[in-house]
Amino acid sequence: MSFLAPAGTPISAGLFLNSLIRGATSGQTCAATLASRLAEHAGHEQAWLAVTGRAAMTLALRAMRDACDDPQRVEVIVPAYTCYSVPASALKAGLRPRLCDVDPATLSLRPEALERFDFSRVLAIVTANLYGLPNELTAVESLARRHGVWMLDDAAQALGARLDGRAVGSFGDAGLYSFDKGKNITSLEGGALVASNPQLRKVMQQLYQDAPASPGKDTLMRVAKLAAYSTLLRPGLYDMVRRLPGLGLGRTLYDETYPLQRYSPLLAGFALNLYGRLESLTRDRRTKADALMDGLQQLPGVQLITPLPQAQPAYARLPFLVRDAARRVEVITALETQGIGATASYPEALNNVPEIRRALPPEDLGMPGAEQVASRIVTLPTHAYCPADLPARVHALLKPLLGQ
Ligand SMILES: *Cc1c(COP(=O)(O)O)cnc(C)c1O
Repeated sequence: MSFLAPAGTPISAGLFLNSLIRGATSGQTCAATLASRLAEHAGHEQAWLAVTGRAAMTLALRAMRDACDDPQRVEVIVPAYTCYSVPASALKAGLRPRLCDVDPATLSLRPEALERFDFSRVLAIVTANLYGLPNELTAVESLARRHGVWMLDDAAQALGARLDGRAVGSFGDAGLYSFDKGKNITSLEGGALVASNPQLRKVMQQLYQDAPASPGKDTLMRVAKLAAYSTLLRPGLYDMVRRLPGLGLGRTLYDETYPLQRYSPLLAGFALNLYGRLESLTRDRRTKADALMDGLQQLPGVQLITPLPQAQPAYARLPFLVRDAARRVEVITALETQGIGATASYPEALNNVPEIRRALPPEDLGMPGAEQVASRIVTLPTHAYCPADLPARVHALLKPLLGQ
């Protein structure tokens, strides 16, 4: 059976070879070019490339702590519904995660909920921009400035998205990008941190220099995996792959044991080549998301996520909400049975992930907005392998379940 992966970026055989040769013959140059393109993209002075986005985020949070004179500031405010790697990065950096609830209508952190914090212990606020939908970044930025705390604009799923004409990842003091499997561009693994503040840059540069390079043997393994990824993402083969045990595809587990290493220059050819195609990739995903939404909005049982005014989302996936968790099981089963990779995204709000919950103060233990999202969200694929008739198929499949 043919099966559409939930997210991904197709890499043709030609692009694969070209990227591999670029990485193998001039990987350092590719990495330097990629770093300067990303810094420029976000309007920041400098970029650092790490083995994963979460490694880059961990180093950035450590740098923020080291560049802050007040040792009391150990709290990092994160959206209560986001990738588990975000609070894991805070804990791994020796900091304490705090949660800000999100608005199910927009998936953004609620600026009003941020106001309730006692900022005397806060070091930084992190955004989420999930699925490539910009959060209330302007409001968060002015709030962070007003309270004198760092802001890290997490654009791991939003490279190519904009708000008020500004790139997501450019708001606040630092921005994060990821090149993991389901992101806007991919080299299977990798991440970047961009920043301008001179003090922050100085500390970040030192931490980065002290971080080890990614070991050569891991790099060969990654290239083999990338070859497999670019082949097996094809709808004709993905169905077989997703059934293989031990791959853990699509599962979300809490983990703090990841290495803090620099990015492999061999992979830089892939990320640099795909960055060169970012505009057309983003345009294509946006067109596919718009067509899906045209069909979905006719179904009363679907609650679409409204992009903020002035937002140009990048739609790494298309999210929407259904009535409850029971209805969601039916929806995802119906879509998967027909070869459409729908997902329930992250299984829990962060306050309900045991490893995170035990680090939270009592006032962060209930997050009604995030809990609603966790139980009601569905995502649909928007990548280039999605055929033109996908919106019509999705609409027809979901009409009996969500048509009233
Ligand atoms: C994927 C992701 C990260 C972490 O990036 P990795 O490269 O997977 O480590 C951080 N934040 C968000 C919102 C993500 O989606």
